[in-house]
Amino acid sequence: MAMESYEDALKRLGELLSKKLDLGELAVAKIKKLTDELEENDSNKSSDAVERIKSGFIHFKTRKYQKRPGLYSALAKSQSPKFLVFACSDSRVSPSHILNFQPGEAFIVRNIANMVPPFDKNQHSGVGAALEYPVTHLNVENILVIGHSRCGGIKGLMSMEDDSAPKSVFIENWVQIGTPAKNRVKEDFSDLSFDDQCNYCEKEAVNVSLGNLLSYPFVRERVMKNKLAIRGAHYDFVNGTFDLWELDFKTTPAFALS
Ligand SMILES: [Zn+2]
Repeated sequence: MAMESYEDALKRLGELLSKKLDLGELAVAKIKKLTDELEENDSNKSSDAVERIKSGFIHFKTRKYQKRPGLYSALAKSQSPKFLVFACSDSRVSPSHILNFQPGEAFIVRNIANMVPPFDKNQHSGVGAALEYPVTHLNVENILVIGHSRCGGIKGLMSMEDDSAPKSVFIENWVQIGTPAKNRVKEDFSDLSFDDQCNYCEKEAVNVSLGNLLSYPFVRERVMKNKLAIRGAHYDFVNGTFDLWELDFKTTPAFALS
């Protein structure tokens, strides 16, 4: 049976009560019971979330913050991270967890499929600002872009038909930043299964982002002066492995360093 809409259910109740007035008292009692149940359900959910947030902070404060007063008082004055990390927003791939970054060590940008868009003042300024600040003000020495296994964003990119209407408000437009990676994988690995193609694309999209990093003048300048190193990585949470590689200029011909 198809699910009745909320409006239809209310209408049906209204019609029944208008025909059978004697049911009114019973209906009031049942509606009150239902309202009480819904309110209780709602407050349980909300208090679970609040309790989780509170207990998480208390755990951090007592086990970490209060145990390293020197670190946290130094960090209160300034930050000087060595790393700028791009990682996916996926809940399973937090760089602080998988690479054990401590507070103050890594400036982290997370977005769908860990993409760095090409330099463009009119688009994606959130990523541009999050790149400009750590590079030009904090003078980070390393940029690391981390892809990961079973990335939903990459799967979405690989599944997109070239000329079909968008199915999302933002996602497809965003992941298209990785289109050069998708095209390369579809061309070079057409005989592989879709899942294996996605796996290659997770890594190739990192290379596209490494190339895109060089389209930012303040990044390119520091890379050329050897003040900034750029690396790609892939974290596989199915097998518990982490691949790391240097920027390969050959994979990024669009941005010749000359
Ligand atoms: Zn992802």
